[in-house]
Amino acid sequence: MTEKYDLHCHSTASDGSLSPTEVIERAQQQGVTSIALTDHDTINGQAEAAKAATANDIKFIPGIEISTTWENKCFHIVGLNIDPKNQTLISSISHLQQLRTERAKKIALKLEKRRVPDAYKAVVKMANGGMITRAHFANFLLENNYVTSQQQAFDRYLGNGKTAFVATVWADLTNVVAWINQAGGVAVIAHPLRYKLTASWMRRFLTAFKEAGGQGIEVVTGRSSAEEIRRSLAYAKQYQLSASTGSDFHTPTNQWVELGRLAALPENIQPIWELF
Ligand code: AMP
Ligand code: MN
Ligand code: MN
Ligand code: MN
Repeated sequence: MTEKYDLHCHSTASDGSLSPTEVIERAQQQGVTSIALTDHDTINGQAEAAKAATANDIKFIPGIEISTTWENKCFHIVGLNIDPKNQTLISSISHLQQLRTERAKKIALKLEKRRVPDAYKAVVKMANGGMITRAHFANFLLENNYVTSQQQAFDRYLGNGKTAFVATVWADLTNVVAWINQAGGVAVIAHPLRYKLTASWMRRFLTAFKEAGGQGIEVVTGRSSAEEIRRSLAYAKQYQLSASTGSDFHTPTNQWVELGRLAALPENIQPIWELF
């Protein structure tokens, strides 16, 4: 059987629409043989996903996607093969979980000033105990016809610098990499091309990540073009980072991104799973 890895996806523990069990079942149906569930700033879906993975004969790699701030910019760092019972990691991310709740209240206040009432109550209900993200606000705005698409919700309200944007200082990049490492995991830069960094900022960021003990970078993500894979691969080689692959799947209603639907990882680079 050919191996198929998907090392980045979301469940109802954060902003995914499927439960951890449903994510694993769908991955299995898509031919995925090894999966990491990487919810935003939480490991609450891990136990359920691990159990479902055993039942579906699929290899499970415990994971998380942590929100970090470096030089006033937000970066997502995926932690793979972490010990989800690691107490330092658990207590460290609890601060981020509080930050998410506080930020959601502030976003709702800003929306209220734009004549969009009752958003906080709605997103709390939608998240149903999971992490509240801007994706929940986007869905709320869409469902109530304030916008005609998720993208428009970000363009008009939620995106960087838009009217309901709340600047947030997430966890320090260096600390996040350290938490992941001491929980036995490897730290991976999520979707490296989505930050829209200039070449010199990218170099500075990769240097800081490497110095902090980061070991991987996503070379293939759900919608990578051949050109994007080539650019990400070049960063991996230049900074001697191992290559990861992950769809960043959130929901079956997004027809462009599917579990396990990923371009092949280039062969001339060490795959991240050799470090597990
Ligand atoms: P947060 O971590 O709360 O800032 O929310 C970020 C999440 O919102 C991401 O993980 C995506 O799921 C979603 N997201 C961010 N930007 C966009 C966008 N332009 N269109 C649709 N969803 C987005
Ligand atoms: Mn998300
Ligand atoms: Mn992300
Ligand atoms: Mn993600």
